Amino acid sequence: MPNSGSESAPAFDLNVGAGEPLLEVVDLHVEFRTREGIARAVNGVSYSVKPGETLAVLGESGSGKSVTAQAIMGILDTPPGYITKGEVRFCGQDVLTLPEEDRRKLRGASMAMIFQDALSSLNPVFSVGWQIGEMFRVHEGMSRKEAKLKAIELLDRVRIPSAKDRVGDYPHQFSGGMRQRVMIAMAIALNPRLLIADEPTTALDVTVQAQVMDLLAELQRESGMGMILITHDLGVVADVADICAVMYAGRIVEHADVHELYANPAHPYTKALLGSIPRLDLKGQEVAVIKGLPPTLTNLPTGCAFHPRCSYVKDRCRSEEPPLYSVNEHRDSACHYWEEVLDGSPE
Ligand code: SF4
Repeated sequence: MPNSGSESAPAFDLNVGAGEPLLEVVDLHVEFRTREGIARAVNGVSYSVKPGETLAVLGESGSGKSVTAQAIMGILDTPPGYITKGEVRFCGQDVLTLPEEDRRKLRGASMAMIFQDALSSLNPVFSVGWQIGEMFRVHEGMSRKEAKLKAIELLDRVRIPSAKDRVGDYPHQFSGGMRQRVMIAMAIALNPRLLIADEPTTALDVTVQAQVMDLLAELQRESGMGMILITHDLGVVADVADICAVMYAGRIVEHADVHELYANPAHPYTKALLGSIPRLDLKGQEVAVIKGLPPTLTNLPTGCAFHPRCSYVKDRCRSEEPPLYSVNEHRDSACHYWEEVLDGSPE
């Protein structure tokens, strides 16, 4: 298994049984203590990812999707961010209870993350080959020469043309799409079991977006790694994800198989998000916008946090927070009226 024999592997078993989750986030709560008050960024999020599976986490900015990922990776800025409750089980081990040294070993080697902005994530004063090679020098104790050869191999694997000639180039000498490939090369260098991709294609044009997503899917097929894809781009999700978690105001409001969710959403927010995608087959028709703004996390609305923007709202929604109702075996919705939403009324 990848990493299990590495010197830098953490002191717990990284194998998971067939059908067992690689990652389980259980009732996670994260808050930011700010001058304006306590911002409740993540409020009881639970989800899981199996080996080879892709979970897409969707939602507007500020919905808590990236903060949840930072908490999983152990890169939350503390202060002001604090995990106040919950567990993050990786291969069965709650990593929140591990010493920082063990978490550092997990990062990069077993769990890796790629970010939206490759230019600011790469160091401008070191060549890309040096930066990729560092993963092998630090985690696996390789010599500079060995690490450089590994860097060339990886640049080749993420399809950087003439990898051997480009290994000494600096980040600014690459296009946006190529820089994102360099980031992916760094992320997959040590064969992580889990890859978190936070808006990996947002800064790229549509053709390059498709190439990067294809590359991630191919790498995933080869290695069987689990992937969390954080995005607000529903087009990307439909192509690559197995399961979707839709987040709003720090909670999961719908969790479903991607095909079921696209075919018939069971939460008004998911329905509104899907309705806001421009469609070529409905030329001339206005694209729907979700009325209002996401709530302020220091002052969440009472009851259902989506109620000020919801076209299905009833009195009960203003006072009673909906639990995550089970719609079927593979699907949950945090809406008191999910049956009406599935029926299509009242819109
Ligand atoms: Fe809308 Fe009420 Fe459902 Fe919330 S609980 S999404 S306000 S219908």
